[in-house]
Amino acid sequence: MEEAQEKTVPLTNKVIKNQIESIREKIAEIKLPIVKSENDNHKFNTEKSQATPEKFDFPKDPDSSDVIVTKGGGLEMIGGFVGFANLPNQVHRKSVKKGFEFTMMAVGESGLGKSTLINSLFLTNLYEEREIPEAAIKAKQTVSIEASTVEIEERGVKLRLTVVDTPGFGDAIDNKNAFDPIIEYIDNQFERYLHDESGLNRRHIVDNRVHCCFYFINPCGHGLRPIDIEFMKTLQTRVNLVPLIAKADMLTPKEIKKFKKRVLEELGKNQIHIYQLPDVEDDEDEEFKQQTQQLKSMIPFAVVGSTQLIEVKGKKVRGRLYPWGVVEVENPDHNDFTGLRTMLISHMQDLQEVTHDLHYEKYRASRLGDEPEAPMMAPMGTRPPPDAEKDRILHEKEMELQKMQKMIEQMQMQLTLQQKASASADKNSKSHKV
Ligand code: GDP
Repeated sequence: MEEAQEKTVPLTNKVIKNQIESIREKIAEIKLPIVKSENDNHKFNTEKSQATPEKFDFPKDPDSSDVIVTKGGGLEMIGGFVGFANLPNQVHRKSVKKGFEFTMMAVGESGLGKSTLINSLFLTNLYEEREIPEAAIKAKQTVSIEASTVEIEERGVKLRLTVVDTPGFGDAIDNKNAFDPIIEYIDNQFERYLHDESGLNRRHIVDNRVHCCFYFINPCGHGLRPIDIEFMKTLQTRVNLVPLIAKADMLTPKEIKKFKKRVLEELGKNQIHIYQLPDVEDDEDEEFKQQTQQLKSMIPFAVVGSTQLIEVKGKKVRGRLYPWGVVEVENPDHNDFTGLRTMLISHMQDLQEVTHDLHYEKYRASRLGDEPEAPMMAPMGTRPPPDAEKDRILHEKEMELQKMQKMIEQMQMQLTLQQKASASADKNSKSHKV
């Protein structure tokens, strides 16, 4: 009787997350010997314990297409304004240890303010004495895929941030192939990671996979257009989608509410999976729980961008000046910009994990399923196993990896379901109180 009861009790989110973490570790172990190189086992096993925060060096990516350079010629290190130091302590410690490499992408019709928003989020600041790179101030219309890398350091936490601005679509009469280059870019980063992961220099892999994609929705329509739906459907399996209502200053608060509702309905109707903020652990503090709840209620974020500083009541703020007043970018009463920034900073690690566990693993499984594996390299000084034996081992490993990947997907689904259930339970209890 007791046993039967025990089976029906759902696992706590914390337990599921721990299980996912341990499966990920097993996956890493399984992957390791597939392509062996000299001393690789040793390196892999000791890497974690040897990581000293002070010594962390970001691997420099020689192919990075555009690095923002200061007037002095060095790599721009901007501190303070992104808000890294405000990460919850636990995450903060983890990031100090590992360092962060984060890539985000902006996608949407041209002229919706993609470049302006990205500049507002990362590359401009309110401190007059700080030098702002020339390239960052100029909001220009995006015509091709442009990747810019910037290193940010805040209280010893380093972030190597790559922002990928994509060509806007919507101008052409036929937009059928408008998103091909974007999909290709995302897949290329996966391919590169896959290649590096099975190469000799695994310790210094530069992670350029796209961890987050802001999808800009035109505020002038009546919700999602067919091209938005089609594009998001293609993107959802590759990247963490974060839909944004662009230029929110063009809508009244009532219109924004209606627009958000409509977008959510359309996403649901078309079974488009956007990035879901994970549920907070029971032992998190109240403030964090409340913040997450608030962030969830903002989705899709309705944002305003500007790189202009305007004086309001003696204070310089980023905003847009209209004859009737100023729309302040960082005023939560005016738009969801600060919510979006908080979401990005506080969930950077989760966005990376979902990219790795879900999107990358899916790509990897499909690649390895499709094409013959690259020839296996034998460790130095050992005899390679005969071909048939090698194939058998590889096949077994691949099957095991796929099984584990499925387990992770199921657990993540369970997490989402539990989140939804607890959210609706929350709602019910609130409405009962009312
Ligand atoms: P992109 O082509 O999507 O990168 O768009 P841009 O960032 O180049 O912006 C296009 C135009 O829209 C520029 O004139 C911006 O000043 C303006 N813009 C950018 N963000 C906003 C916003 O939030 N509200 C309004 N009203 N205009 C904006």
